[in-house]
Amino acid sequence: MDLYLYNTLTRTKERFTPIQAGSVGLYTCGPTVYNYAHIGNLRTYVFEDILKRVMVYNGLIVKHVMNITDVGHLTGDRDMGEDKMETGAQREGRTAWEIAAHYTAAFKEDLAHLNIVDPDIWCKATDTIPEQITLIETLENKGFTYRTSDGIYFDTSKFDGYAQLSRQNREALQEGARVEKNVEKRNPTDFALWKFSPADTQRQMEWDSPWGIGFPGWHIECSAMSMKFLGKQLDIHCGGTDHIDVHHTNEIAQSEAATGHKFFNFWMHGEFLNIQGGKKMAKSEGNFLTLENAFIKNDVDPLVYRYATFHSHYRKPMDYSDDSVAAAQNGLRNLRSQVARLIDSTGDEQAAVHAGFKEKFMAQLNDDLNMPRALAVLQELLKSGESEAVKLATVREFDTAILGLELDRVEEAAPLPQEVLGLMAMRKTARAEKNWAESDRIRDEIQAMGYIVQDGKEGMQVIKQ
Ligand code: AMP
Ligand code: ZN
Repeated sequence: MDLYLYNTLTRTKERFTPIQAGSVGLYTCGPTVYNYAHIGNLRTYVFEDILKRVMVYNGLIVKHVMNITDVGHLTGDRDMGEDKMETGAQREGRTAWEIAAHYTAAFKEDLAHLNIVDPDIWCKATDTIPEQITLIETLENKGFTYRTSDGIYFDTSKFDGYAQLSRQNREALQEGARVEKNVEKRNPTDFALWKFSPADTQRQMEWDSPWGIGFPGWHIECSAMSMKFLGKQLDIHCGGTDHIDVHHTNEIAQSEAATGHKFFNFWMHGEFLNIQGGKKMAKSEGNFLTLENAFIKNDVDPLVYRYATFHSHYRKPMDYSDDSVAAAQNGLRNLRSQVARLIDSTGDEQAAVHAGFKEKFMAQLNDDLNMPRALAVLQELLKSGESEAVKLATVREFDTAILGLELDRVEEAAPLPQEVLGLMAMRKTARAEKNWAESDRIRDEIQAMGYIVQDGKEGMQVIKQ
């Protein structure tokens, strides 16, 4: 079956074919580790996880590289402002290295909580300084750089097609870059490849280079690391949509200027998570929620968040609210209880995966990762007249391969409220007295409160809908 993915470079859904048949080189921009990841960031990593799982489900071997930005990302994306790592260190009274180690570990924990499969290669910007310097030297030798009082810059006017990814016209590019104007830059869109350490202060993170002591600009690390670890297999490069105009545009410019050929074939971008009212969730806005404070601390399974993200297509904005979390929590509980019932009734009898439903499920995934529709196929399967053992085998495969929701985990049912317990006791009495009309009336009353009432061999069962 063909896999179609939306390529930001061409603004179309294209049939994906890897450079080397059967295997894929995937690079996903990782976090800047000066603070916790917020759930907006994590939405992007869940989308990338689905992308990778779908490719594997299609029989492809995926080599996945993710970087950790532990130096060189300034508070403005256009090379002005302070270094996020050094600022984070000052804020917390720790060294920049300690800050990086702490938030990297926290990030990896977040990924584990969300069942995001680890990349094959983790790489830190600070571990690839020599490769970044070599790349800057190549650009220098080819005449793409110039020196200012604070660093070595890339001259974007020398690179044809600078706006190929962002498709911004010249005025929009200049306007975007004007905000943080650096008078020494030749063009507003030029960006730093290497920044010099200030003469009067010693930075915690700095290295010697052919141009003097300093540190790399933010964009150069992703070019150097993707080329180092993926070689010529530069198939797909991902990030959030905020990376299109500056970070990924600059990565393409410097990489293609250095090598003389195309950098990545596919560029894929996840749309933002907004808090209700359309406001972007951002660290700089101070409105950000983490997996810890929005889920784990409240005893809500973090996989509820993974499940919630599946309800919006990755290229559409997702609105976050308490209601959307409650709906996802109910939905996941419901799925798990349906699977628990399948396990109970089949006694774990083995069966083959249903080929027709698998094909339907994959058709949605292969249509640019359409998770809302893939979930609809799952519901259709559960409601179908297939045997319970076939349903169970098929759901388990979907879950292990793609969903990652631990659907066959037995969920501790939330305690029933006192009011429901009272009604249940009354209904028991009514049934003992063979007062069926009263028993039915109480059942309806319980169901109207959002519960399902079942009378089975073990007596009355009441579960939350
Ligand atoms: P950062 O740590 O700021 O470099 O961001 C890590 C990843 O999260 C990048 O791919 C960003 O594009 C992405 N991102 C940032 N904010 C959001 C958001 N509100 N929703 C979705 N993705 C985001
Ligand atoms: Zn990057």
